[in-house]
Amino acid sequence: MKQPLEVLAAEAAGCTKCRLAEGRTQVVFGVGNPDADVLFVGEAPGFHEDKQGEPFVGAAGQLLTRMLNEVVGVERADVYICNVIMCRPAGNRDPQEDEIEACTPWLVEQVSLIQPRVIVTLGNFATKFVLNTRQGITRMRGAAYPWHGRTVIPTYHPAAILRGGGERSRQFAELRQDFELVRETLAALDRPAKRVTPTEPEAPPEPVTQVERVTHVKRLTQVERVTVPDAEPAPEEQLELF
Ligand code: URA
Repeated sequence: MKQPLEVLAAEAAGCTKCRLAEGRTQVVFGVGNPDADVLFVGEAPGFHEDKQGEPFVGAAGQLLTRMLNEVVGVERADVYICNVIMCRPAGNRDPQEDEIEACTPWLVEQVSLIQPRVIVTLGNFATKFVLNTRQGITRMRGAAYPWHGRTVIPTYHPAAILRGGGERSRQFAELRQDFELVRETLAALDRPAKRVTPTEPEAPPEPVTQVERVTHVKRLTQVERVTVPDAEPAPEEQLELF
């Protein structure tokens, strides 16, 4: 019997909800482990992804795979990888508001089916979209954020690292740090939960209303958008890569 994700992918393959359907070679649906603990979300398919029908298969994808293998200690097939939008915008232009709106239900469905405990947003675009913030990636990375019972860890887009100086750059070191945070967060999930005695009243669930550093991982089932407060952009925001 077909898995729900395969059914969804087959449905998505014929999507004509926005103008990007006209210029694409194919819809680039997410790939990976349907039971993944961690889901990576990028911006939109590029040239190679559009041709091959799989997210992150170009040079940026190779760097992502390397970080997964070297730093997190997992295979690419162990995680789930997708994008905010599933069709390549011509010339890799930024996705437009109505295109994002048309594609959001597909992303929400994927998250709902996979129920990842950790979501890694790759770059400015995915981070701003998922955390509903105007803060850029330079300010947001380096921390984990609670998001509807899950943990969101923003990091640079691998393509930005490749364009911005590669392995010798400060951003590359920071990318590694962020992937170390992913590894630590996943390791914390494996630890047994604190024993609760029958007399101990259960704490009420905390509303997720603001950004805070995560010290533990909560588990909820809903996928909703959450507003995080905006602050003045830092001076280094000018250097934003993605
Ligand atoms: N960049 C993205 O954001 N997604 C891809 O799949 C490839 C490059």
